[in-house]
Amino acid sequence: MKSYATDALRNIALAGHNDTGKTTLVSGLLFAAGAVNRFLRVEDGNTVTDFDEEEVQRKISIQLGLAHAEWKGHKINFFDTPGFAMFISETLAGLKGADSLAIVVNGVAGVEVHTSKIFSLGEQQRIPTCIVINKMDKDYADDEKVVAQLKDKFGNRILPIQVPIGKESGFHGVVDLVRRKAFLSAGDGTPGAKEAEIPADMKARADAAFEQLVEKVAEGDEKLMEKFFETGTLSPQDMLAGLKKGIAKRDIIPVLFTSAAKLTGLPSLLDFVVDLMPSPAVRPWEGKNPVSGEALSFEPKEDAPPSAYVIKTISDLFAGRITIFKVLSGTFHSDGTYYNSTRETPERFGAINAIQGKTLTPVGEAKPGDIVALAKLKETKTFDTICEKGKPILYDPLKIPEASISFAIEPKSKGDEDKISSALARLMEEDPVLKLTRDMQTKEIVLSGAGQLHIEIVVKKLQHKYGVGVNLKLPKVPFKETVTRKAETTYRHKKQTGGRGQFAEASIILEPAGRGEGYEFIDEIFGGSIPQNFRPSVDKGIQATSVKGVLAGYPVVDFKVRLVDGKFHPVDSSDRAFQIAGSMGFKEAFAKAGPTILEPIFNMEIASPEEFCGDIMGDLNGRRGRVQGMDVEGDLRVVKAQAPLAEILTYSSDLRSMTQGRATFSLEFSHYEEVPKFAQEKIIAAAKKEKAGETEEEE
Ligand code: GDP
Repeated sequence: MKSYATDALRNIALAGHNDTGKTTLVSGLLFAAGAVNRFLRVEDGNTVTDFDEEEVQRKISIQLGLAHAEWKGHKINFFDTPGFAMFISETLAGLKGADSLAIVVNGVAGVEVHTSKIFSLGEQQRIPTCIVINKMDKDYADDEKVVAQLKDKFGNRILPIQVPIGKESGFHGVVDLVRRKAFLSAGDGTPGAKEAEIPADMKARADAAFEQLVEKVAEGDEKLMEKFFETGTLSPQDMLAGLKKGIAKRDIIPVLFTSAAKLTGLPSLLDFVVDLMPSPAVRPWEGKNPVSGEALSFEPKEDAPPSAYVIKTISDLFAGRITIFKVLSGTFHSDGTYYNSTRETPERFGAINAIQGKTLTPVGEAKPGDIVALAKLKETKTFDTICEKGKPILYDPLKIPEASISFAIEPKSKGDEDKISSALARLMEEDPVLKLTRDMQTKEIVLSGAGQLHIEIVVKKLQHKYGVGVNLKLPKVPFKETVTRKAETTYRHKKQTGGRGQFAEASIILEPAGRGEGYEFIDEIFGGSIPQNFRPSVDKGIQATSVKGVLAGYPVVDFKVRLVDGKFHPVDSSDRAFQIAGSMGFKEAFAKAGPTILEPIFNMEIASPEEFCGDIMGDLNGRRGRVQGMDVEGDLRVVKAQAPLAEILTYSSDLRSMTQGRATFSLEFSHYEEVPKFAQEKIIAAAKKEKAGETEEEE
């Protein structure tokens, strides 16, 4: 395969609500352009962009999928994105890599939740956008209704540049308002289109739509406006130039019509992408000098210093790691040595490839704007920058939402721990949202992700791809114990069991310390009531007991112990005897010092349509949460609150059912706080129950 010059490249992301036909559309477009030799359907489980076993099984896109086709001398790179809010990070990665966006809308259902979400993302990133109304062949598909709805939601920038020919199952082509021609589908299972005159019975409607379009195009450019006043119309060439300008500025958001399943309207859509969507040359990226931090940018030109940004990593069982990146400047060559400025390390390239799903075809070199893939890079991870060592640049990594739900995982069969952690490491390479932590306190392995479905998919992948089974449990809450007032005690440890006895006595004062201060041991002995070498033994004994907890088995924190006095015996005293005196003395003092349990409190931000805010706040009250305020963000309200972790372990799914999946939330650890007494009793009872199962170990 050859490499393409920047002007001959188009990178377009297809995004929108689930089930609008994005994957089928990419499949149809690949077939229409001859990139594949038959139409691969979602139903048959063999589309190019949904190759992952979980995607095939569930018939949904989970990951960003990449494919390309050549059309009229141009290479179009398609980004097929998931239609679920839960996998928004993959969609964000797709939008970042693309230079234009096609929002796919269902011709029956019209504007759906994720349609609006994608529209506002496109708006924020100022990415030239078109709308493709798909499924036009279905019963009740209604172009006029959906266009009116789009205009109502997104304004008069929404402008059809086509008129569909035929309704529902009779949909068989489109009138191209720019060329003023009809393009009729072959209707024989092939995706080609026949050019024809506009059908006589559609002339009036096409003329009216053209009038609207031509006025809008003329409005955006003074010269075109003059021509329009003089002649009352614009030539197809002027229309193309004016539309291109309006689309680039987002003054015009054109609407096109397709049936991906019936392969109708596809060549016209490909023409549109090539003729009217921008090349990568128009969206240069801002980076910075990795050493000085100063702003820096390289032009998207072949002779500029090379730089590229990693959009996605695929972890394939057979091919290994596949790194997909966008060239932002300069020319990259196969087998070259480059520099990863994110990780400050050289990176040796093998062959540079074009990518079709997960199939690689060598291309030799890659020019600015192209999307290419490399197999088996050693150091490079998703969202890294690759450049030349002598001319370094660094692009900021994409910010993606934090994981919002956590589960503890345990292997189904003992001894699988290592296999699981290496399999998860591979899965995390291709899924930057996924996080794996080991809770030092609870000893659990905790897997965090974007939602319950996300974690369940990961568990399925562990089983199918790597042959390891894990069970999911709600994670344990890392409670802690502490004291609230001062207490003193003198503990004497004395044992005479024939032979050498044991003797140690320690007087300690236990006091609360500030939150987060941990533990401090202060030796305040004057004289030699306890010899120097045994004083650390008391400290050791206290530490050993405090980490195991006294009330409910959680570590004791935020306290000070002063060792003030004691007694020893020249023969019977030992390190061990003083450890026991420290440990037992600590337990006694702890009981007198107003012991209590602390729990982690999290800051929460819940973004939701206004209609659900009442329910969300009411529900937070029931979770011992405290609402701290509410902000307005576009058409969403953002509720800010604090709540104990113990009450929000299942918040992700609870919020989904409370708001029909229309709210999102983020969590961040804030601080530890005392658990109210009624809740403490439950924690202590649960700990006792758990302990009853184990054998009790006493000194
Ligand atoms: P995605 O979730 O947006 O990627 O949608 P898919 O491409 O997976 O399609 C969802 C379902 O709609 C599949 O069953 C497709 O066969 C079907 N579908 C897609 N496009 C069309 C279309 O234009 N017409 C009809 N009738 N069905 C379609």
